[in-house]
Amino acid sequence: MRRKTGQGTCAIWAGEEHRMLGATQVPIVQSAAFGYHDMDEWLDVALGRKAGYIYTRNSNPTVEVFEEKVRSLENAEAATSAASGMGIISSTLFALLASGDRVVSVKDTYGGTTAIFNEFMPKFNIEAIQCDTSDDSQIDHEIKKGCRLLYLESPTNPMTKILDIEKFSQAAHEVGALVVVDNTVATPINQNPLALGADVVVHSATKFLGGHADALGGVACGSKELIARIYHYREIHGSVLDPMAAYLLLRGMKTLDLRIGRQNDNAMQVAQFLETHPAVEQVNYPGLVSHPCHDIACRQMRGFGGILSFMLKENSLDAVGKFISRLRFAHAAGNLGAVETIVAPPATSSHVECTREERSRLGIPEGLIRYSTGIENIEDLIDDLEFALKDLV
Ligand SMILES: *Cc1c(COP(=O)(O)O)cnc(C)c1O
Repeated sequence: MRRKTGQGTCAIWAGEEHRMLGATQVPIVQSAAFGYHDMDEWLDVALGRKAGYIYTRNSNPTVEVFEEKVRSLENAEAATSAASGMGIISSTLFALLASGDRVVSVKDTYGGTTAIFNEFMPKFNIEAIQCDTSDDSQIDHEIKKGCRLLYLESPTNPMTKILDIEKFSQAAHEVGALVVVDNTVATPINQNPLALGADVVVHSATKFLGGHADALGGVACGSKELIARIYHYREIHGSVLDPMAAYLLLRGMKTLDLRIGRQNDNAMQVAQFLETHPAVEQVNYPGLVSHPCHDIACRQMRGFGGILSFMLKENSLDAVGKFISRLRFAHAAGNLGAVETIVAPPATSSHVECTREERSRLGIPEGLIRYSTGIENIEDLIDDLEFALKDLV
């Protein structure tokens, strides 16, 4: 048997067998439907007896290459995609849950996911328990009470809290629950939740997978059986990835391994720089020895990722605004995971879906700054930070 290909090679070659008209690059099949003159063949494809395409809401060749690439990187049996990260997260949750079910999760989930738990699930009589992310015994306790699904995110955005995926997956399986992990912040280069025991891994491909902040997308990976259920939900509910967006994500993914390697390195150096700066109160980055869950991060991650957050000593939105406006090499924007460095307070990014009171209840400080490290030269990022922090001491 040949050796399992490395993650960098997978990101480049997986799914690329499609050689339409001999093109070396994946074609953008911008077609709503696929036609057949042979009625028998059409029926065979429609009934799933033969491989092929009928309608792009069900499947599309460009979209399938994207799914195959992520499937290979997460070493899963199957993958399916959606129009955005929230598209795949809602498809996953509503495909796997039913009225009367109980979900255990944490307070630090992505703002949109938190809104599903609090606004939409109660309408279908689904209860979502949101535990204190740093309280392992509370999470254990709530899992033991019984649940249909455990939903985790690690590292969290923007506080970079770490959850022990292996330990909690085991506990959830003991009560017969499924485990879903949002792996957006870590990326499959740094972490593979399925290998740690999770049943489904979800990504906002809008972020690191695409890496160029020019397309939205989402993807879920897991067993054939679970992915078939998620696929069916999204093909009927219609949150489907557009072929053009799939192409942009595929193009971005060719450099995934290179980008993430650079972002891991840059983020570590930025975190170390900020940690010793007199204007900075606290830095959250799982790669720092000072991080409360650094040991768990070392166990379950191969790299610590590109996302960090920090608080200025002067904890006000005013100081954050001053700091952000002085940076030369950072977009002030509501996304993360791009080749450019991006900064934002949670109020306008990860937790824009929450009210000020909700953020305060979640323990997210208004004066926090999320720093999504790009692939710029590290000397320029440090120089930029030095300048922007100068008279905030
Ligand atoms: C951005 C993000 C999402 C949502 O993804 P969209 O593509 O914006 O819908 C979900 N989870 C995490 C961790 C994210 O950062």
